[in-house]
Amino acid sequence: MQRSQRTHYNHSLEYAINCANENNLSVIVYFGLYDQYPSANLRHFAFMLQGLKDVKENLTKRNIPFIISNEHPANGVLSLAKNAALIITDKGYLKHEKVFRKQVADQVECPMLQVESDVVIPVTSASNKEEYAAHTIRKKIHNKLSEYLNTFTNTKLNKTLSKEFLDNIQKELGPEIDLNQPTNDILKNLNIDKSVNPVSSFVGGENAAHEIFENFLENKLKEYLDKRNDTKEEACSNLSPYLHFGQVSPLYLALKTYEFTKDYYHDFLEQLIVRRELSFNFVYYNQDYDSLDSLPTWALETLNAHREDKRQVYSISELELPNTHDEYFNACQMELLKSGKIHGYFRMYWGKKIIQWSNSPEEALNRLIYFNDKYALDGRDPNGYANILWCFGKHDRPFKERRVFGKVRYMSEKALKRNSSPKHYIAKFKTYEQ
Ligand SMILES: Cc1cc2nc3c(=O)[nH]c(=O)nc-3n(C[C@H](O)[C@H](O)[C@H](O)COP(=O)(O)OP(=O)(O)OC[C@H]3O[C@@H](n4cnc5c(N)ncnc54)[C@H](O)[C@@H]3O)c2cc1C
Repeated sequence: MQRSQRTHYNHSLEYAINCANENNLSVIVYFGLYDQYPSANLRHFAFMLQGLKDVKENLTKRNIPFIISNEHPANGVLSLAKNAALIITDKGYLKHEKVFRKQVADQVECPMLQVESDVVIPVTSASNKEEYAAHTIRKKIHNKLSEYLNTFTNTKLNKTLSKEFLDNIQKELGPEIDLNQPTNDILKNLNIDKSVNPVSSFVGGENAAHEIFENFLENKLKEYLDKRNDTKEEACSNLSPYLHFGQVSPLYLALKTYEFTKDYYHDFLEQLIVRRELSFNFVYYNQDYDSLDSLPTWALETLNAHREDKRQVYSISELELPNTHDEYFNACQMELLKSGKIHGYFRMYWGKKIIQWSNSPEEALNRLIYFNDKYALDGRDPNGYANILWCFGKHDRPFKERRVFGKVRYMSEKALKRNSSPKHYIAKFKTYEQ
């Protein structure tokens, strides 16, 4: 278990239990807590550990052992694999996630399977190629919804392993990470990047995710279409950190939302399934997902044509602090620093401003990926790369030509005022400053 960090609606876990039952074998769930995980820091580890505590508690209730060790996931799996008949893992979409899985697959003797559980429609079933935009993937996804929107129930594991066997395995893997300790004590002993503080705005874990979702269904979903851009209304779900860590199943969210709305085209499902799975399609089929080379030709050409345009430039530290003349941008950056996320509507503005105030599109891209991956709890994700590249024209169309952006869509303060409540947003940011 690396990406789908949950026990509820986890296809990999259920598949493993079913295979074990059929073969009169048992299951061990393993998680490699890796200090040097790419771009992960204290903020991410704190949130993730809160989630892993839920995993342990919920697996224990089902009599399924959960082993977690402080090492590279591939190494941990390889030492466990000596005793295994079959390895089942969740699917990773980003480059480093694929490398981890390949390292195991290349070295194990038993069969290894990947089971996809963090999208509603498996990526290659939704489409067999990189899609151009939401309008080209939407119909393909909708055509498959009735096939994939299925509920499932937890299977009971029939055969359990002895305590002695499990203790021996744990010994081979090194000291056990005791998830019953306070999270801060576990974090203290990890050799991780501690430069970014954890946030109190989000508590990690499947239990918290379900509570947030229930509240969203009951109190916010009705307002989602009209008010999701308005920060004052707080009509968004705030589920992206949980989806990023696999602490909640998108299938479960989709099923429950459909039960409520009876509308496959509901705007929340458009974001959760069509837009999100367009991002998975992008990173799966385009290995340049973190580079401007992934842009359509029109976007690259227009950005190149405007390279020499005069512009105001801020240094990376001025942006990071933040210390710009633009109070809306400062508010976005402050929200990111202090809460670990930016409201979706303002996040587009934030991305566009970084393009406007950088020396080149390449510099802007590096800055955006750096900030998003460092501070956002939902960063380091297919959605992060797809949406950052969207700021440069990916999955979008040409607009009226202007300075720096060329034909790439621009976002003005006027748009913020028209569609949201920027004054309210700034006031909220002031409270973060204190
Ligand atoms: C520059 C930039 C960077 C971004 N980086 C990330 C990121 O690192 N991780 C991330 O999950 N999202 C990212 N987004 C997309 C979007 O801003 C967030 O998904 C959304 O704001 C999350 O808040 P929510 O859970 O309340 O969303 P809701 O509005 O409640 O939507 C529900 C879910 O739908 C999905 N979703 C919503 N908007 C989008 C979108 N535009 N594209 C794809 N899926 C979407 C998300 O999984 C979200 O959790 C980024 C957007 C921009 C412009």
